[in-house]
Amino acid sequence: MSHHPYRTFRTTVARIDRLSPSFTRITLAGDDLTHFGTDGLDQRIKLIVPLADGTVTDVGQFDESQSMTQWYRRWRELPDEQRNPIRTYTIRSPRPVDREIDIDFALHGTDGPASAWATDAQVGDPLFVVGPDSRSEEPAGGIEWKPGAATSVLIAGDETAAPAICSIVESLPADITGEVCIEVPTEADALPLAAPEGVRVRWLARSGAAHGVRLSAAVHDWGRQRSAASAAVDLAEPGDDEVLWEVPDAVAGGEYAWLAGEAGTITALRRHLVRDLGIDRRSIAFMGYWRQGRAEGA
Ligand SMILES: Cc1cc2nc3c(=O)[nH]c(=O)nc-3n(C[C@H](O)[C@H](O)[C@H](O)COP(=O)(O)OP(=O)(O)OC[C@H]3O[C@@H](n4cnc5c(N)ncnc54)[C@H](O)[C@@H]3O)c2cc1C
Repeated sequence: MSHHPYRTFRTTVARIDRLSPSFTRITLAGDDLTHFGTDGLDQRIKLIVPLADGTVTDVGQFDESQSMTQWYRRWRELPDEQRNPIRTYTIRSPRPVDREIDIDFALHGTDGPASAWATDAQVGDPLFVVGPDSRSEEPAGGIEWKPGAATSVLIAGDETAAPAICSIVESLPADITGEVCIEVPTEADALPLAAPEGVRVRWLARSGAAHGVRLSAAVHDWGRQRSAASAAVDLAEPGDDEVLWEVPDAVAGGEYAWLAGEAGTITALRRHLVRDLGIDRRSIAFMGYWRQGRAEGA
């Protein structure tokens, strides 16, 4: 039997670790997870959140002969009270050999069904996860981190992007340079993160400031330093003993920026990089992970 690139995995909560005031890591376990296939990084998945009464409406999502497109169409047609919320998250750590996956939830209260579910989760609770099937011959997609041969990176995001960023940073080659800016609600939300020596990691505590303000300031700082560094090279006079001329082998491989988080903030940052700093838009991945005042899919 051929397998679709995505399937629905039946899992239950195996462990709950409160990592910090705003982050909860939920470890999900299930025999199906032996076929969970991904290279990690910013791999996105979908969670089918149970309805208030704990149920999940069957629209064919457990029938492996059906593609996600097929059951998703039926899901959209359900009346509101039967349609389970579907929310997008990142795999923080896949461990198919142990039949486990970790998801880090940035808790934001109980208005959103996914955050509410994670806030109240108990060991043993069921959760259905739509993710890549390792048995499929078709690529699943869902990984946006594609730095090519970049030697310098800017990685910036808010707490919803922190799981993806941590995963990406842990995968960076030792000789890469760059800056990582992560805005989180409080100082205590800075998580342990090992990065290559040439990569500076900045956890930026919002501490009551408006969402995105600290992240924007940090990226603008980075831009000023970058401009100052390139101006210093531009202004170097012929006759200096220093290297006067440097041409990268492949321009596309030089710089790469990955931006994710609240859509308004991220869009503005991308505009700053392109319009003000003159960075090639083909070197920038930017992703609105959520939008202020709007539920996912609304
Ligand atoms: C590719 C991708 C990967 C993601 N990975 C993660 C992840 O690993 N961990 C994670 O925590 N989130 C992640 N997110 C973000 C997550 O999908 C959203 O935060 C989502 O809206 C949460 O669903 P909900 O049911 O809690 O809230 P919703 O019902 O979608 O929204 C309810 C209300 O809450 C607001 N809201 C949503 N998120 C936040 C927030 N973080 N802070 C404040 N207000 C908010 C909305 O604007 C809305 O007004 C990811 C999103 C994408 C697209």
